[in-house]
Amino acid sequence: MPFSDFHGNPDVVRTAREMLAHDRFPHALILSGPQGSGKFTLAQMIAKAMNCLAPPATNDRPTTDRLPDFCGRCANCIRIADADDLEARFAEAVEVRESMRDADKRETRIFVQTHPDVTIIPPDPPQMLVKVDQVRHVIGEIYYRPSEGRERVYIFSDADFMKEAANSLLKILEEPPDFATIFLLTDNPSALLPTIRSRCMHLRLAPLSTQEVEDYLAEVRPEWKVRERGLVARLCGGGLGRARSFDLARYLAARQDALALLASAMGARDHSELFKVTESYRSGGDGKAKLDSTIRVLYSLLEDLLFVKSGTPEMVRNTDILSELNRMSEQVDFEWIVTATQRLGELESGMRRNLLRSLALDSFAASLEK
Ligand SMILES: [Zn+2]
Repeated sequence: MPFSDFHGNPDVVRTAREMLAHDRFPHALILSGPQGSGKFTLAQMIAKAMNCLAPPATNDRPTTDRLPDFCGRCANCIRIADADDLEARFAEAVEVRESMRDADKRETRIFVQTHPDVTIIPPDPPQMLVKVDQVRHVIGEIYYRPSEGRERVYIFSDADFMKEAANSLLKILEEPPDFATIFLLTDNPSALLPTIRSRCMHLRLAPLSTQEVEDYLAEVRPEWKVRERGLVARLCGGGLGRARSFDLARYLAARQDALALLASAMGARDHSELFKVTESYRSGGDGKAKLDSTIRVLYSLLEDLLFVKSGTPEMVRNTDILSELNRMSEQVDFEWIVTATQRLGELESGMRRNLLRSLALDSFAASLEK
């Protein structure tokens, strides 16, 4: 999977490869962008290009751009690629720690390392922050020359640091070795310490356009209908990872419930449909996940109603029910939509305090009746 397989943001990819070509890749790089924009995928690709044992020749392919690439087939590429599925490797590392004796558990920090020279440092659970011991581990080995590749690579897959960890990282950033590169991946670069930011170069990945997501889905989800791919692309707001694993059937079921709730809130006389829906939200972990997705769908429907009302239907995400949204929007005014959004926020915080789910949904709908 060479660089040409990266989706979107061609300018950022070209910049990174040009820096590689001129041997001017920075020792510390902030790679920022929304969830699903490909930060980790790109960092992995760069790590492979830095360490590939058989990089595609840059002068015998007249049709390509002649910038550095990686083969995807050599021992280094393959071992680095073992961490491409970061979620799975992370879960394995956490499981190993869970199986340890308590004393060892406390001492053990989470890393993902499938190649001796490439280390991924995910945020450490349960706080999901990078801890000082993780950074100390990096300090302990970053000054040794790479053993099987050309470059030591450290990828902080979600650069959300505990204070002490951030201060430790600064020490490395002040004097990084020539043969090491540190990636800080984040969807919120402004949360990083200014002293860290000032020592790093910064590349930003923009969210992908709906068309780019649709093209990607055509490749990885050919079994989906064109209409379904279009809908998923719109619903995922430019996130490839989310789009690929999107559970459309589940979404549509939640949307059915959300529409029934809104219809009732908009003053349907017959509430039996509403009660049928809300009754199905029982307590327990399953009910919570179900309610969470219904709340998210409600937000997106209310937002779509706002788009329709404000004369910008091209912004609507639930495009397949546009005529239904049009009909609904005629029954309410702006104020109603704003109030409904506020009530939904209250419902959400009520859920965190474990109010009875079915009752909370009933009263959400009832409170909005006109
Ligand atoms: Zn290779």
